[in-house]
Amino acid sequence: MAIGNHRPTTITLDGQALVHNIEVARKQFAKDTYLFAVVKANAYGHGVKEVAALAKKAKVDGYAVAILDEGLELRDLGYKTDTILVLGITPPTQVLLAAKYGISLTVGDISWLETATTFLCEQNLAPLKVHIAVDTGMGRIGARNTDELLNMIEFIEKQPNLFEFEGLFTHFATADDDNPEYFKKQLANWQTALAAVKNLPKFVHAANSAATLWHNQDVYTNVIRLGAGMYGFNPSGKTLGAPNLQPVLSLQSEIVFVKKVPANTKISYGATYVTKKTEWIATLPIGYADGYLRRMQGYKVLIDGETAEIVGRVTMDQMMIRLARYYPIGTSVTLIGGSQGAYLGAVDLAEYAKTIPYEIVTNLSSRIKREVK
Ligand code: PLP
Repeated sequence: MAIGNHRPTTITLDGQALVHNIEVARKQFAKDTYLFAVVKANAYGHGVKEVAALAKKAKVDGYAVAILDEGLELRDLGYKTDTILVLGITPPTQVLLAAKYGISLTVGDISWLETATTFLCEQNLAPLKVHIAVDTGMGRIGARNTDELLNMIEFIEKQPNLFEFEGLFTHFATADDDNPEYFKKQLANWQTALAAVKNLPKFVHAANSAATLWHNQDVYTNVIRLGAGMYGFNPSGKTLGAPNLQPVLSLQSEIVFVKKVPANTKISYGATYVTKKTEWIATLPIGYADGYLRRMQGYKVLIDGETAEIVGRVTMDQMMIRLARYYPIGTSVTLIGGSQGAYLGAVDLAEYAKTIPYEIVTNLSSRIKREVK
């Protein structure tokens, strides 16, 4: 996809904020706890190239991604020896690629290991690093009981030339909930799993951002898998407080067209907005193809700390706003971030769009140029 280097729509990343957020997370656990920066989905839409470099500066111990290709992208970007863990299930037919590039894969069941063996035993590569997922209640992937878990460990440990048992992990479904009941059940299952394993691997991990922020006293983990918190948005939306985080991403555009129109002028596809009186309408060069959701119609942006409403349908590449007064072409407009004391965060946009902040940021497409300040 072409990057809009010649368009005045920009994502700016606050590097200091990202480093600060990593420190906030680190302080939640013992000093020797590892931290993996979760940079899947183009670093939650922030830009993987920029975020991986900032995280490196903050001395993270590894990166977590969702799919093998994201791991290969990191290797391509120059992260040749860093620990890279693929959190999702990679088809076992692809294990040679992972072994060749030293990328750690997640194992969910014994049949995956059996198929992987048929590929690995034909080659003379370094053992494939694997992390076993334990399904303590997320209901997504992993061993669902102790027998399944121990079978996998036995299988791996019998073939040290093919596999390295590098990690054991689980994922919490409700660590961001104000009701702790289900979290407690998962925690008990995690403790049962840990107690059953004689020789724990190097990485034993259970803490996403929510578990890091709100359950650090309860969870046994020696790795923090930090996503949302690193980017500075509250993983719970507005349910629980996360006061120490600093937002990393801001999204700015500029007025590229402005007009004064009389009452009864229709704006954008479907003519859903009709001016009530004489109004100043400006056009911004950003649309839903950039990941600014079509359902943000009626929401707001900031100009000089004041709000301006998004009027008419958000189109693929452009959208219109109603100005309180005339502003010239080139006026800066904030869609996410701060403007003279006013602030619009991913959490606010998510509330309006009836979604979660994760969806707001991961949608931001690679067409938008990224800068680090
Ligand atoms: N660990 C796993 C297995 C995940 O799927 C995710 C994100 O979805 C994370 C960690 C990071 O979660 P968060 O962004 O809430 O920190």
